[in-house]
Amino acid sequence: MHGRARDPGLADELHFGPFRRMLRARLTPPRPGAQWTGITTRLAERLLETGTVTAVLTMAPDPADRWRPRPVLVTDPAELAACRGMRMGYAPLLALLEPAREAGHTRLAVVGIPCQVYALRALERSLGLDRLYVIGTPCSDNTTTENFHEFLGLLAEDPAAITYLEFRTDYHVELRFADGRTRAIPFLKLPLSRLRPDFFPLTCRSCVDYTNVLADITVGYMGGAGEQWLLVRNARGEEMLAALGDELQTGEPTSAGRRRAAVAGFLKNVERAAGGLPIRAMPGWLRPLVAWLMPRVGPRGLEFARARVEMKAVETVLHLRREHPRRMPAMIPDHVWRLVLPYGLTQASGEGVHPDRAAARKSGIQR
Ligand SMILES: Cc1cc2nc3c(=O)[nH]c(=O)nc-3n(C[C@H](O)[C@H](O)[C@H](O)COP(=O)(O)OP(=O)(O)OC[C@H]3O[C@@H](n4cnc5c(N)ncnc54)[C@H](O)[C@@H]3O)c2cc1C
Repeated sequence: MHGRARDPGLADELHFGPFRRMLRARLTPPRPGAQWTGITTRLAERLLETGTVTAVLTMAPDPADRWRPRPVLVTDPAELAACRGMRMGYAPLLALLEPAREAGHTRLAVVGIPCQVYALRALERSLGLDRLYVIGTPCSDNTTTENFHEFLGLLAEDPAAITYLEFRTDYHVELRFADGRTRAIPFLKLPLSRLRPDFFPLTCRSCVDYTNVLADITVGYMGGAGEQWLLVRNARGEEMLAALGDELQTGEPTSAGRRRAAVAGFLKNVERAAGGLPIRAMPGWLRPLVAWLMPRVGPRGLEFARARVEMKAVETVLHLRREHPRRMPAMIPDHVWRLVLPYGLTQASGEGVHPDRAAARKSGIQR
């Protein structure tokens, strides 16, 4: 869909996958209920408003639980506003592809996280669509909505009143409450040690597509230094972005700090956690100081995004090595090995390139 694989020779493609351009961006005015400013939903709305597609496949909140995602096929742009916001949980988004086809939709847009988009691309040819627009968001980790409720219960005395949660790039989790209160909790003060060790399943801990590489456009925040972060990956991504016109304010992404020590420290913590959550071994008295320092001297902007992608790569190698070593050749693409190399992680014998992938490479087929 991009006409080429990631090119490690181009700046940042090894980390973020193929892209034409990267932007910092914000929608003006920001849309109510959006996770950030609502660019994701607005891209989908414009596709419906302009008749470019006849339906959008995305997630809405379950009427009985605002944190539970529920797949929906939307044909009226006004109904997309209700889909704004991030909900932690799994839901079978692609199960609505067949109903969409049966309803006669041949021009379709899909909003999805990387694992959904990956499966969508695998099915794309068999769907018989005239046009498919893919709006992707990054995803670091997901969990069941039940687990997520447990997490909320550890963060506040009135978890049912929490309406918004985000892991911000200034190393704080932001909470918003139904009565208008807000709270920012430093990452270092999160009650991670009280979460079940398998809070994030191995599927997420070994995921190699944080940035949604197969989307036409990726809309995230982690390289945006407090704003949204766009990766326009191909012509279709450009077409969607152009439809926002002057509703979108854009700028060049920024980058500051150095990631090396942060990623190396993370690697040690993952090793120490032996399959559980990587909790920092740090005396309690030091935590407030480090929590204060991190947003000021830690990696910021694109450097923060590079650090997070490298941390995910480290996790993939260490968790698979521990839990499913025989799957490593099939599950770890070459670029992941290149990302972890500076931290001393190299392929042991038997962990190398899968024979099928080697054969595909020889015959010129590349992911
Ligand atoms: C589980 C999860 C983890 C994420 N982790 C990161 C991260 O680490 N770094 C980063 O930059 N961005 C991450 N994101 C994306 C981020 O939360 C924002 O959604 C994104 O930046 C777009 O903001 P927006 O204001 O444009 O979105 P909005 O306009 O508010 O739209 C959000 C869209 O996300 C969809 N959505 C919500 N929950 C789910 C879900 N469970 N599964 C599939 N789709 C869903 C909604 O249907 C809606 O279409 C994550 C998203 C999810 C769902």
